Amino acid sequence: MKKRIAVLPGDGIGPEVTQAAVDVVKATAKRFHHEFEFHYAAIGGAAYDAVGEPLPDQTIEVCAASDAVLLGSVGGPKWDQVAPEVRPEKSLLALRKQFNLYANLRPVKAHEALQEASPLKPEIVEGTDFVIVRELTGGLYFSEPRKKTEDSAVDTLVYTRKEIERIVETAFQLARSRNGKLTSVDKANVLASSKLWREIVEEMRTGYPDVTVEHMLVDAAAMQLIKEPSSFDVIVTENLFGDILSDEASMITGSLGMLPSASVRDDSFGVYEPIHGSAPDIAGQGKANPAGAILSAAMLLKQSFGLTAEAQAIEDAVERVLKDGYTTADLKGGRVLSTEQWTAKVIEELD
Ligand code: ATP
Ligand code: MG
Repeated sequence: MKKRIAVLPGDGIGPEVTQAAVDVVKATAKRFHHEFEFHYAAIGGAAYDAVGEPLPDQTIEVCAASDAVLLGSVGGPKWDQVAPEVRPEKSLLALRKQFNLYANLRPVKAHEALQEASPLKPEIVEGTDFVIVRELTGGLYFSEPRKKTEDSAVDTLVYTRKEIERIVETAFQLARSRNGKLTSVDKANVLASSKLWREIVEEMRTGYPDVTVEHMLVDAAAMQLIKEPSSFDVIVTENLFGDILSDEASMITGSLGMLPSASVRDDSFGVYEPIHGSAPDIAGQGKANPAGAILSAAMLLKQSFGLTAEAQAIEDAVERVLKDGYTTADLKGGRVLSTEQWTAKVIEELD
């Protein structure tokens, strides 16, 4: 298979972990006889420093000409004084908007070898393996009017039927490809937008008789994530709830550096990135855990290119390296390797 992958390393540890992911994808391509082209472009603070804006047109063009995008992370204290409209973080929202990436997928999987890293008891974490599907382009974060005076402030929560239907569709499809359980999270006892959300999920479930559907209020979901995270398979929710719950969920496994994410739409294009930030405190020291970026690349191969066996090979290689006791500095215990050394172990397992 011939494909083009845009690579946007960004700032902080972004370039280190992205390079690790590219190296792993190259090794996978070699083993499975694919031809992937990698096209690098600047984003975030690196782009601001080069051309004065965090998401240059040229970067958008490189992404548009590619089949999928691998992204590192953006931002850092170096750009604290930069004007609001050209701040590095702006590039992420702009990229999602530009490519209409309305669905954010965040898998949360407990790795047996890393149980110690979680703040929760091992018996609670055990077996945790779910995906949060968060709506990304609607809701409170985008709607108008928004205004603030000295004495009052207004944000508006708007969802259209079409916006809800397409994200719920994504979640049903995903649930069907996994263990067939969908938890729809809302606040339907209070919010009109949540009432519509719940109605639409109820309408659509008739098309997925093989998927078990449950509705859960967001406050209950926040508790259940800590109490029994292994009870979830696919969670679908709106933008704000998804933002909060996915950060909560990322702590279950206790390793920010391990978790991948995808931002996708209804065709095969997507942007794949680790959930962690640019971690300026450890940038350039070879301490970054590249697993989140490597597993994001695996998601890319599976979601955007349909290469299931290749993605599985990467996930298995990561799992085996952890089982063999090799870790990075952010994980508790094990034999601590540098970013490059740990990546080399994954590539060894792949070969
Ligand atoms: P952002 O605002 O960009 O999301 P953040 O403030 O949430 O960033 P991160 O940059 O994700 O924070 O870092 C939080 C902490 O986790 C830091 O101490 C950082 O060093 C550590 N960290 C994050 N990612 C990794 C990683 N891949 N490997 C090792 N440590 C990491
Ligand atoms: Mg953060």
